[in-house]
Amino acid sequence: MALDPDERLTAEEFAEFLNEREVQTACRRCGVAHWQTGKGGELKGFIPVGTDEQGDFRLSERSVPVQYLICVNCGNVELFATKVVRKWKRDRLRRQQEIL
Ligand SMILES: [Zn+2]
Repeated sequence: MALDPDERLTAEEFAEFLNEREVQTACRRCGVAHWQTGKGGELKGFIPVGTDEQGDFRLSERSVPVQYLICVNCGNVELFATKVVRKWKRDRLRRQQEIL
């Protein structure tokens, strides 16, 4: 099922979300702050087993769509619920439209 274009998340938007919410950037396993994501950026085109066509990781119909980051140093994978990031994006768009 195709998503509304406004519902899609770019790697840049995900990074903006992490910055705005002041998410710790150092890996909690090794302390290095160098991440890759499957959407755009350094791993463009990389789609691991278990993702849908939008790149959201899915285990089954009842699973939770997530955004993920992979620590380049130790391989630790950090997961973030897509619905929280999309809500942040919708709220930001609403704030921008109120300013105009
Ligand atoms: Zn690490």
